[in-house]
Amino acid sequence: MKIGFIGLGNMGAPMAANLAKAGHEVTGFDMANVSVAGVTLAGSAAEAAAGAEVVITMLPNGQILRAVANDILPVMTAGAAFVDCSTVDVDSARAVAEQAEAAGILAVDAPVSGGIGGAAAGTLTFMAGGSDAAFAKAAPLFEIMGQKAVHCGTSGAGQAAKICNNMILGVTMIATCEAFALADKLGLDRQKMFDVVSTSSGYSWTMNAYCPAPGVGPQSPADNGYKPGFAAELMLKDLRLSQQAADSADADTPMGQLAEALYTQFVESEDGKAMDFSAMLPRFEKRSRS
Ligand code: NAD
Repeated sequence: MKIGFIGLGNMGAPMAANLAKAGHEVTGFDMANVSVAGVTLAGSAAEAAAGAEVVITMLPNGQILRAVANDILPVMTAGAAFVDCSTVDVDSARAVAEQAEAAGILAVDAPVSGGIGGAAAGTLTFMAGGSDAAFAKAAPLFEIMGQKAVHCGTSGAGQAAKICNNMILGVTMIATCEAFALADKLGLDRQKMFDVVSTSSGYSWTMNAYCPAPGVGPQSPADNGYKPGFAAELMLKDLRLSQQAADSADADTPMGQLAEALYTQFVESEDGKAMDFSAMLPRFEKRSRS
């Protein structure tokens, strides 16, 4: 397949490389000076998209996605598919899908979970929104870049699933970290805390698979000085998207709101910038109740 790939950053570069490795003809574009194995570089987004059967975008936010969509949709061929894998606000996802469909182009919003490791290994999970025809066109590519793709519903449903999942993740990470910090103050050994909680009703992905306490549980960023991993800034981005969506849908999400406030404080006023999102544990360790 002839594929255009726009946004060759930490996630996009390995995803595009995997498509090229599988034998697809991939033409890529990024604002930054990048090189990706097997990918031919174009001088603009429009040049990468022209004549492609599928164009994939992997960009920082909804505003940039809208700008790129304005550039590429006019040069795309009717019947081609526009697959956005970035994490963006639901409104932008729906707006670009509408714009694409008006031009006769199939549109899928397909944010991912699995991080940089999953992108490199081709084991991402895709959560997709769009028509059956659009999903069917993108599905063979999801199989190369990932291990699972769930068709969640119409346009925007993929982004909705992603931000709801990550709102749970942010809230759960905070709960896990504050519980470890409380356990410390109660004199409980961290390994014992893990042994109990990971097999009791407090278990979660953040405790069992991504334990924020160094030396406890499976290997995680905590064992590597809290180097990301999944950066606290990205967690904050997703929590903000969840609260933006909650505002526009008039949903009451008090825990999500509090998680957003805590990660804002952590990233903007404390030392959370450039740290993994599980570095909430050393943050709580340093604090007291008053
Ligand atoms: P990144 O910053 O490494 O990559 C984004 C790339 O887009 C950069 O290389 C940048 O130069 C390029 N870019 C920006 N504007 C552009 C434009 N107008 N035209 C072409 N290229 C442009 O970010 P990333 O970590 O690769 O994340 C990409 C998306 O994936 C984000 O939406 C992020 O939230 C999401 N995501 C990231 C992770 C992760 O662990 N990094 C996990 C899941 C989802």
